[in-house]
Amino acid sequence: MNGTTENENAQGALNIVCGTVTDIPDILLQQEALVTPLLETPAYFKFFFHIVRYSNGSGNEPASYLNSMVSSINQYYEDTDIFFLHAGYDEILSDYFANMTPNMYAELFATNVQPNVINVYLLPNDFPPGSGGWGGRADNIPGTALIMAYSNFVIGQSTFPHEVGHVLGLYHTHHALEPGGCAETPTNCTVCGDFVCDTPPDPDLSNTGYVDSWTCAYTGPSGYSPDTANIMSYSFDNCRTRFSLGQITRMKSIIDGNVPLQLMLFRIAGPDSICDTGTFSVPGITGATYTWSVGTGLTILSGQGTNSVQIQSNVLTNSASISLSVSGLSYLPAGVTISRTITTILTQDLITFEGIANKFAVPICPGQTIMVSLLYNGQSLSIGNPYGITSAQWGPAAPGLSIAPTTGTPSLVSGSSCYVTRAPEGQLIGGSVSVHLVDNCGNRTGQYITFVNC
Ligand SMILES: [Zn+2]
Repeated sequence: MNGTTENENAQGALNIVCGTVTDIPDILLQQEALVTPLLETPAYFKFFFHIVRYSNGSGNEPASYLNSMVSSINQYYEDTDIFFLHAGYDEILSDYFANMTPNMYAELFATNVQPNVINVYLLPNDFPPGSGGWGGRADNIPGTALIMAYSNFVIGQSTFPHEVGHVLGLYHTHHALEPGGCAETPTNCTVCGDFVCDTPPDPDLSNTGYVDSWTCAYTGPSGYSPDTANIMSYSFDNCRTRFSLGQITRMKSIIDGNVPLQLMLFRIAGPDSICDTGTFSVPGITGATYTWSVGTGLTILSGQGTNSVQIQSNVLTNSASISLSVSGLSYLPAGVTISRTITTILTQDLITFEGIANKFAVPICPGQTIMVSLLYNGQSLSIGNPYGITSAQWGPAAPGLSIAPTTGTPSLVSGSSCYVTRAPEGQLIGGSVSVHLVDNCGNRTGQYITFVNC
């Protein structure tokens, strides 16, 4: 098996060797994986295809074939709530690449690269037996691109979802046996094996006689009970149909923490807040019908039915949603539904103070200093610019109280936090400190916090 593109057995079932280099440390081990990933689903990734042909234009499938590939992979990924869109293609007319050897993958990965999409390179041939070839390979785990040898996207169907699984951060279910792998036991499943706990140890199903290609039953050494239907295994092409729940969670966690993958998602681009009008758009998708809708306070001025709309804000509301439904895609019958929220004006009621339940009665003792941190709609201003807020200014303070950016000289204070100090002696009179916010539309609002005797 080793060194061949695929092994066609007596039943004609494809058994695949994947060329993805798997000796790559797991990036999730370097971060705290979220139990509940943040990724909003359904999520949609954009494919850009590169059809490799001979220099005279011959070889490989017609471009019309691509939709059937996307249709097929969308069915394999149905349980993941991650789907794929056909965002374009080009043709690489090159005898050099059409006849490429397996070790030329890096050169092809550097050709005609499109930004913010999964680049899919389709070869017009299989690698000859004995050439060290492979059926498909991803550029990394997680990655940005993959190459498919001809039979593996025309005859076989599960290698394409397998390679995309690598791009989205999955390892082989037999990764324990590969370079960089370590044996999985019941107690180390997050740091060994394929780093996924609900995929059982797998003895590498590409070994001859380990899987019955008719029934897909496991027929290998005892002591193992691998899932011969797992897409990330080396089971027969026709046997591989599913991901485990743990693999699905892992893909979403990987996407959460990976900026290149985030940029490949099909999302509505535009400003986070609009003062008067703003333009919102998605990448154009061939064959798509676009239907935009907006929440209260927003009006679509132009562009309905296209991939770019101009929207006007005409009612003073704190936030409103912009939604897009995309239909007409043969490879995704359910269509696409995505939305985003924008803000239009600041609202006093949404100003709160971190850790303070009753902002109108905060106890403070003589000589005591309390740090107060502002939240807007529950979000800290120190971690970005929620709702277009461009400045926060504290003050004035009531007699008996002083404010400072840190403990120290009293002044007006700019920023998300403020230190409030009560004088060592004397009574509180009024006891309030004001804070004023300004957003990037010039909208202003304010709130105050009241201190009382401790
Ligand atoms: Zn693989």
